[in-house]
Amino acid sequence: MVDEIGNAIKVMHDENIKFVRLQFVDINGIPKSISVPLGSDEDMEDLFNDGMLFDGSSVDGFVEIHESDLLLKPDLSTFSSLPWRPDESGVSRFICDIYTPEGKPFKGDPRSTLKSSLEKLKDKGYSYNIGPEPEFFIIDQDEDGNYIPHDDAGYFDVDPTDKGTNFRRKLVIDLEDLGFEVEGSHHEVAPGQNEIAFKFDKALKTADAVITFKQAIKAIVDNMGYKVTFMPKPFFGVNGSGMHCHQSLFKGDKNLFSDENNENGLSQEALYFMGGLLKHSPALSAVVAPTVNSYKRLVPGYEAPVYMAYGLKNRSALIRIPAARGKGTRIEYRSPDPSCNPYLAFAAMLEAGLDGLKHKIDPGEPTEFNIYNLSDEELGEKGINVLPASLWEAYHAFEEDDVIKKGLGQHISEKFLESKYAEWDEYRIQVFGYEQKKYIGL
Ligand code: GLU
Ligand code: MG
Ligand code: MG
Repeated sequence: MVDEIGNAIKVMHDENIKFVRLQFVDINGIPKSISVPLGSDEDMEDLFNDGMLFDGSSVDGFVEIHESDLLLKPDLSTFSSLPWRPDESGVSRFICDIYTPEGKPFKGDPRSTLKSSLEKLKDKGYSYNIGPEPEFFIIDQDEDGNYIPHDDAGYFDVDPTDKGTNFRRKLVIDLEDLGFEVEGSHHEVAPGQNEIAFKFDKALKTADAVITFKQAIKAIVDNMGYKVTFMPKPFFGVNGSGMHCHQSLFKGDKNLFSDENNENGLSQEALYFMGGLLKHSPALSAVVAPTVNSYKRLVPGYEAPVYMAYGLKNRSALIRIPAARGKGTRIEYRSPDPSCNPYLAFAAMLEAGLDGLKHKIDPGEPTEFNIYNLSDEELGEKGINVLPASLWEAYHAFEEDDVIKKGLGQHISEKFLESKYAEWDEYRIQVFGYEQKKYIGL
């Protein structure tokens, strides 16, 4: 360990680093950090070995004021220098785990929560892999201060109509510098909308990558005079932004979701895992689509899921099975959006999938029709249920789902419910322009 610390310190000196950023996320996935000037080798070794105390009572979802001290401990494997900060007197970044002053993992830390869900796979030797596809809008403001998309381009358009190319170019180069593998990037369907797909990797590394990516693209676009938003539905009448999560379980090199002898090339594990995801989807919604705005995306007609069903090619279903088979076999869970806390979202999805495996939950038959076109009667006949239509419905589903609550732990579940209740309570009393237009003549 000391060796690794020694190496990290040497690299920081060689790269002319001046600041060491210690970073973590709050319960809502908002990055937080403290920056320490690079000190003597001895001071740095103490910092890495002993961690750094901070006031946890000022961080959303952490601790009360009377028990405020928490300890940040850098995870050395996340060491990277931030390419969007200056080269001269640059910045290195470590993602940290949070401990109590007694040295126990802190139960309110989202990253530690994901780690403890992943622990459940250890004795079987499984790994949980995720390939996320975050979408986002690049926005501008008109003379009246209204937010507008920064271009008029559409799906797969090219420059000069697509004005996102330079942002995405810099983003991909920066992310690769940071050690993340990008599968591809493109202009999405709505004006101003972009997507980047990550190559799948282990869930913890992927959650770190999502947080890093959001920071990188915000910094890049901000430096070029625009803004990025991960708001799930920033504009009425066009597609919103999802963060579909392609997922699979591996044992060593073997993809456990693949079975060439089985119908559709899917293994029984894949089917049960899907059964668990489908069963717990109402509660999962609160975690993977966690804002009031998330539910304005999850409506028919905009390539976002509304119905709890799976399909082989079907983009109107909650789970799609992409055509790749063999090692590339995976399921694509489509309700997550990029406003979620990736650590909690991945932990909750894994808990749901594991419950499916444990109780052999049958996901039913695949749907191979456009579910958006079915009447309520036909949906009823086919036993297809709808996802929660609001944060309030999702909140209640979460409150009633013991598997997901237990999976995330009591501390996180309670604080999460508190935070979502407050968000809903604030939202429900607002009066919007739409309501005035519709009702002012009454
Ligand atoms: N933007 C769509 C969503 O909200 C997804 C489009 C796609 O299939 O990539 O999920
Ligand atoms: Mg997309
Ligand atoms: Mg997708």
